[in-house]
Amino acid sequence: PHGRVFNFSAGPAVLPVEVLEQAQADLLNWRGSGMSVMEMSHRGKEFQSIIDAAEADLRALLSIPDNYHVLFMQGGASTQFSAIPLNLAGEGDTVDYIVTGSWSKKAASEAKKYCKVNVAATGDNKSIPARDSWNLSADAKYVHYCDNETIQGVEFKGAPDVGGKVLIADMSSNFLSKPVDVSKYGIIYAGAQKNIGPAGVTIVIKAKVLYDAIAGSNGFYNSPVDPAVRSLMNVPFTIPSNPDLEKEFIAQAAKQGMIQLKGHRSVGGMRASIYNSMPLDGVQQLAAFMQKFAAQHA
Ligand code: PMP
Repeated sequence: PHGRVFNFSAGPAVLPVEVLEQAQADLLNWRGSGMSVMEMSHRGKEFQSIIDAAEADLRALLSIPDNYHVLFMQGGASTQFSAIPLNLAGEGDTVDYIVTGSWSKKAASEAKKYCKVNVAATGDNKSIPARDSWNLSADAKYVHYCDNETIQGVEFKGAPDVGGKVLIADMSSNFLSKPVDVSKYGIIYAGAQKNIGPAGVTIVIKAKVLYDAIAGSNGFYNSPVDPAVRSLMNVPFTIPSNPDLEKEFIAQAAKQGMIQLKGHRSVGGMRASIYNSMPLDGVQQLAAFMQKFAAQHA
């Protein structure tokens, strides 16, 4: 319906049709105000009620404790790469970074402009270094890590124990995809363009469909990531026997309405991003296509 595609983009990502239709209607006349959210005063009571409701919903969804603030910011997650060290550390202070993929690496590089960065652990982009190998500094102002590496598809399965240090997580690509014990964190931040919106189908069953399709392909497809830390949001895979086929896979899938399956340019291969709003039907159609494509080219 509506000529919609299955959009597997890593972000900006798919939104539910019901949400788009509601937004479409609200854009002409928000609840009898005679105007849209883009036209009303940001100090008026209408806008205040919108932002208050958004905050209350978020607090309820994540059980955010009362002693935590919720900030709706501009500038995307990248701005927080500098805002966090600028606000929490001075020039001579040490901060710890755990690098498990491209985004945490970027965050660490940005922080280096403002304070002393200790990279306490560096992964191989496929797995997460064992906690007892981390070299945390005694005096770090905070420990920063990325809960889900969007490009590599490497995801933490719980908050790491940093022994009472202030823990900061970039949850841009798995925000609101699972319950999180907010009290374990000093700061959680996330860009909004991927997951935020009413949840669609259950995430775990979605991701399992794709990893099963990869596992059941007799080696035609390969998932590079350690099974213990495979992301439920971003599923990268390759065709190891013939990487030239990957282009054709992406092109043929697009013809069948499954778009944005190309892996990030820095790693190549394919990547299916299956955020909250991706319908299960889309994931099942992709798994069926993968099976057919493998049968044709094996
Ligand atoms: N962190 C992660 C984990 C991301 O996936 C992204 C966006 N792909 C960013 C940070 C950067 O976010 P933004 O584009 O909102 O600056």
